[in-house]
Amino acid sequence: MTLFHKIIRREIPADIVYEDEHLIAFRDIAPQAPVHVLFVPKETIPSLDAARPEHAELVGRLALAAAEYARQEGFAEDGYRIVMNCNGHGGQTVYQMHLHLLAGAPLGRFGTP
Ligand code: AMP
Repeated sequence: MTLFHKIIRREIPADIVYEDEHLIAFRDIAPQAPVHVLFVPKETIPSLDAARPEHAELVGRLALAAAEYARQEGFAEDGYRIVMNCNGHGGQTVYQMHLHLLAGAPLGRFGTP
């Protein structure tokens, strides 16, 4: 079981901003932007590499939940970035698939320091 499963089960605290039957969203403990929220499916899927065609709807739900959150919080028009790190070279550290939503300031060109 990962840290994120423990958050889903309320075994460790988190700043939860959204939840439905499919997914949960909470603030990243080490934010990389003024807004940094993680969108995590409740079903166990270790990484995007482990996702299969039957997970297509769930992967879409993560992206659409992030977009809806951005609209509700009022930063959709200014813009934001979504990121999914996958496996070692992708920098993944928690092996439950999740999507990062970063916003709240100009984020610079992707990939530049
Ligand atoms: P990744 O490196 O893509 O696997 O992302 C994992 C993210 O989880 C990192 O951005 C961490 O800062 C974040 N994180 C680790 N522990 C916690 C926690 N207890 N609550 C919220 N976010 C966390």
